[in-house]
Amino acid sequence: MTLDYNSLLTALAVSAACLAITVLASWIARRTETFLLACGIGLILIVSGIFAYGLYVDQPNVTVGIVNFALLFPGFAMVWGAGCQFRSGKFPRMRVAASAALTTVAASLPMLLGYDGLAFIIDNTVIAAFLFATAYQYWRARSEAAVPLTGITALYCLTAFSFVLCAVVLIYQGKLVLGVAPKNWAEDLSLAVCIASMTGIGALSLALHQWRMAARHRIDAATDPLTGLLNRRALFDRHGAGVMGPTTAVLVFDIDHFKSINDSFGHAVGDRVLKIFAAELTANCRLSDTVARHGGEEFAMVLHEVMPGRAEIVAERIRKAFEERELDIDGELCKCTVSVGVASGRTKPLPFDAMLSAADKALYAAKRAGRNRVELASHLQAVPTDTARTAS
Ligand code: GH3
Ligand code: MG
Ligand code: MG
Repeated sequence: MTLDYNSLLTALAVSAACLAITVLASWIARRTETFLLACGIGLILIVSGIFAYGLYVDQPNVTVGIVNFALLFPGFAMVWGAGCQFRSGKFPRMRVAASAALTTVAASLPMLLGYDGLAFIIDNTVIAAFLFATAYQYWRARSEAAVPLTGITALYCLTAFSFVLCAVVLIYQGKLVLGVAPKNWAEDLSLAVCIASMTGIGALSLALHQWRMAARHRIDAATDPLTGLLNRRALFDRHGAGVMGPTTAVLVFDIDHFKSINDSFGHAVGDRVLKIFAAELTANCRLSDTVARHGGEEFAMVLHEVMPGRAEIVAERIRKAFEERELDIDGELCKCTVSVGVASGRTKPLPFDAMLSAADKALYAAKRAGRNRVELASHLQAVPTDTARTAS
């Protein structure tokens, strides 16, 4: 069975249309992934461009040739923009519009002047450049999901290379005026490569999308939506089964009289206070430490590799900073304080549970002793501030 060029072009258009449908369906399932929408629109333009090219192959005509460029180039520019958006989160509107317009004009002018051979050299070069640029975006993002992203990069490069070959063969033939659509071995090869790559990119895009969704779900399951800190589950996943060495400290914070903040100013203000306190905690820990929202207005911190006395200093710094914060609510000033229990300075390793309950006991001692203070569990050590006490 032999297939003519137009049948292969139809196969390519169908394969691109299937990819567009896959990408758009994935976008409908998760609308925040707007790069999928951009990619889908780009592919629809490319499919339309392929149909226009099919018409041109049957009956070479300047208008159809220009329509082909005016659909294909914006389509490839959109696909490149989608790659940028995938990597950076921003769709480069201006650069996509400018590159689509410039390249369309660059290929249409020689077509209008009768130099269709030159127009198709520019056409192949432009498509190759857009595809290489797209591949580069996915390559730069590969740390997110190495396998599908490296595969997508390779397929975009392979397709781009097939267009480079088409341009090189046309240049080699040296005909600036063709009168018909280009027909040579590189065109046939490029068509076959495009059909195969399109299928591969579709499958890998789907895998990538699932990969991203699973990662998002994992992050959502571990994150407190109000403060953005780890939640209680993530805290226990990270440390629950662990035994803490002598240089690890566990701190438990509980905002004082928080209920009265809610009662006096409303729940929304209470939420703002929680966010401010969470930011204070984050600002006072290192990347290797853990900060989590343990319950309603209770937070936990796990500090690693702390020198003796360091955890108490961190706790006191946070307590003091929070005490000094003033929250302006409709002109009325609101001030809050926090009590802290610290478990650190052990001589022998202890399970996380034991450290947490020791810190909890110290916290309740702080509450009993009048709030807005740091209390230590375990050894009776002096905290280097006037407000901190030691719980027995
Ligand atoms: P104490 O000084 O003894 O800790 O007193 P408290 O008022 O802080 O403690 P209590 O346990 O009586 O009240 C905690 C309040 O925290 C009650 C609950 O409505 C509020 N709360 C829990 N989660 C949230 C939240 O996500 N947002 C807001 N605004 N309030 C919350
Ligand atoms: Mg509480
Ligand atoms: Mg409280």
